[in-house]
Amino acid sequence: MSSRLDLIVRGGSVITPAGVTKADVGVAGTHFAVVAPDIHESAAREIDATGLHVFPGILDAHVHFNEPGRAEWEGLASGSAALAAGGGTWFADMPLNSTPPVTDAATFAAKRRLAEQKAVTDFSLWGGLVPGNLDQLAELRDAGAIGLKAFLCGSGIDDFPGITDAATLRAGLKRAAELELLVAVHAEDDALANKLTAAARARGATDARAWLATRPMEVELSAIKLALELAGETRCALHLVHVSSSEGLALVAQAKAAGVDVTAETCPHYLLLNEEETVRQGAPAKCAPPLRPEAVRQKLWRALDDGRVDTLGSDHSPAPPELKTAPDFFAVWGGISGIQHGFPLLLSEALERDPDALPRLAALLSDNVARRFRLPGKGRLRAGSDADFVLLDLNGEQTLQNRDLLYRHRQGPYDGRRCSVRVMETFVRGQTVWGEGRIAPGAPKGHFLRPTPKAHA
Ligand SMILES: [Zn+2]
Repeated sequence: MSSRLDLIVRGGSVITPAGVTKADVGVAGTHFAVVAPDIHESAAREIDATGLHVFPGILDAHVHFNEPGRAEWEGLASGSAALAAGGGTWFADMPLNSTPPVTDAATFAAKRRLAEQKAVTDFSLWGGLVPGNLDQLAELRDAGAIGLKAFLCGSGIDDFPGITDAATLRAGLKRAAELELLVAVHAEDDALANKLTAAARARGATDARAWLATRPMEVELSAIKLALELAGETRCALHLVHVSSSEGLALVAQAKAAGVDVTAETCPHYLLLNEEETVRQGAPAKCAPPLRPEAVRQKLWRALDDGRVDTLGSDHSPAPPELKTAPDFFAVWGGISGIQHGFPLLLSEALERDPDALPRLAALLSDNVARRFRLPGKGRLRAGSDADFVLLDLNGEQTLQNRDLLYRHRQGPYDGRRCSVRVMETFVRGQTVWGEGRIAPGAPKGHFLRPTPKAHA
């Protein structure tokens, strides 16, 4: 019996969606073997976690690591390292910004091979839903895509066109539903955004405030409405990424009540930053949908507290500094780099609002993600699950600094922010990936995960 466990974490406060309990956590090989008040066995490695919290590994279903093809923007190695440093143990990489984008089985296989060589956390991959690839959706499903991603507006990337008409979207959702593939959509109304942009440009506008005004909340709400309507009609599972307002979440709640299979993600940056940060910081705080006015941000927190958000994803989307420096703000590349500091800072600020928020956050960051993306071995601190977890110091007062970022480009919108939550150590399948302030030398590479078929989920 004494040699059964390889690792015991003793005396920490263990967080599950059900609550926080003082417990020991025993790991055998790559799995949790036991979570109990007192483990009497011993193990090769024992960690005294007194005063620390044991949190499930964060599952980030929304990242852009840009490899292959744009590794100079981020890369699978640096991106996954930054994820682990921020408490993450799994990511799902979006089909675009890598080039070629992932819109068929061959491009999927190429990215999978690279990620298996480079990622330090487990991972899954999104396929793209673009005009003209209906006949490639089955092979993407068979290759193990976690779902399909579509843009309802231009994506900013020429080789990944948006689906900007209802008929094409309807056909895509219908085919995805037949294949039991979930579809994630970037919801912004292309026609409305273009109209507002053209008007601003005609006036000669170039500054951040003028750019913000071209993507008001109505642009997002209009596209959310269309996506919900067509998901209901086609019975396609829908995941709305980066919903930036409680108004958007209210539309999702209505659709859920009407039987639509839909979930909503928001991102730490919509909770941690408001649009004045876009004006003040410029490029590092530019994203679409944009950061919102302070009152909208406050209401988004309340919606999160009330359980109207399903998942949190980073939408980590870096670009090289030279794309972030145009004097014309409209020409500055959008995308917020937040995968390393965003989650700890979110935990820190959520706990300041509500000291009892940890179980809810564990659901949003782990359990709900594993359920929605049908990863039954992930997301929970319980016997039998993969031993993916994080040791957190909730009194680890620090000032976040961009110079500590592991990104390819040390750019981010949280420089100088005070954060009370510190990620002490991150474990993937029972192995330390991040610890002592660095990626563990010889950390094993991550595994590729495909969603469990629906009938078995
Ligand atoms: Zn994204």
